Amino acid sequence: MGENVKVVVRCRPMNQKETESKCEKIVEIGDYVVSVLNPSDRNAPRKTFTFDSVYDSLSTTEVIYNELCYPLVESTLEGYNGTIFAYGQTGCGKTHTMQGEGNFGHGPNNGIIPRCFDHIFETISIAKSVRYLALVSYLEIYNENIRDLLCANDSGITNHPLKDVPGVGITVPTLTTHTVVNAKECHDLLNIGNKTRITAATLMNEKSSRSHTIFTISLEQIQGSTPSTPDGTQVLIGGIRRGKLNLVDLAGSERQRKTGAFGDRLKEATKINLSLSALGNVISSLVDGKTKHVPYRDSKLTRLLQDSLGGNTKTLMISCISPADTNYDETLSTLRYASRAKNI
Ligand code: ADP
Ligand code: MG
Repeated sequence: MGENVKVVVRCRPMNQKETESKCEKIVEIGDYVVSVLNPSDRNAPRKTFTFDSVYDSLSTTEVIYNELCYPLVESTLEGYNGTIFAYGQTGCGKTHTMQGEGNFGHGPNNGIIPRCFDHIFETISIAKSVRYLALVSYLEIYNENIRDLLCANDSGITNHPLKDVPGVGITVPTLTTHTVVNAKECHDLLNIGNKTRITAATLMNEKSSRSHTIFTISLEQIQGSTPSTPDGTQVLIGGIRRGKLNLVDLAGSERQRKTGAFGDRLKEATKINLSLSALGNVISSLVDGKTKHVPYRDSKLTRLLQDSLGGNTKTLMISCISPADTNYDETLSTLRYASRAKNI
């Protein structure tokens, strides 16, 4: 199981605020190792953590994609499920890593999600003996409620129910799915969904999102030829295989005390932490392999992703951190979460 779950760390560069306030860089990136200096106890040994890969502030999303995402997406094209998570404190690069800067350019820091679109449709367009049907959905989990980001009239349903269909698994029957035939259509849907996404300002970061989002591309594979009958209907010959790719931008992992949360914000924070801790528990029990009970049922996030975590599926968790001394506590907590998930 261990090799199907990869946990890596990406450290972003100092941001303008950190540079201006002369923050000290307390994070060192080595080969597979991250070490952190405690700024208030400089004589203490640095805390070190080992991961499947670690990326410093000069590493590009392109490199991360080629090393880790490419093989994962290939396996979803072969019919397996796969999930890529971005985890970490708000402002540390989750959305930068997953989406890039929003213009879907082709630079080295173009995001993982648009790279997946290009990769998938390049493969589909040259596939010879296989045909694919690609379907997309985009949802948000906010306060343990599921919201469809691709349904224009979703104000009515603010909490799409989960359904456990025997033989199929956990589904969200009322969620819209959209057939896509090229990367451009995927980009357009991602943009539409992003506009719908709930964001709430916190003291940390005005754009900070308190929700988890899951962009799912489901790839139905039709083996063999598919001749048309005289009346034009398609006859499917051969089996159908289905692989699913989940691209997850998790809510900020920071604890609420630092963000001055109270009232509704505090309630949100509790529920966000519930999903994040449930996810950590699921991943660590999968990596561990010994525990028979995998606690999928503990949160909406883990229930939704149940068929994409474990078994033959591939999971990649990219944990994003800041290099600055002012974020010491949160950085440590992110590294602990990530290393506990992997149990290295
Ligand atoms: P999050 O989604 O985790 O809250 P963002 O992805 O929005 O964080 O990143 C916060 C800011 O830091 C953005 O302006 C982003 O462009 C910048 N940033 C994050 N990671 C990197 C990186 N690896 N290299 C350069 N800039 C980055
Ligand atoms: Mg973000």
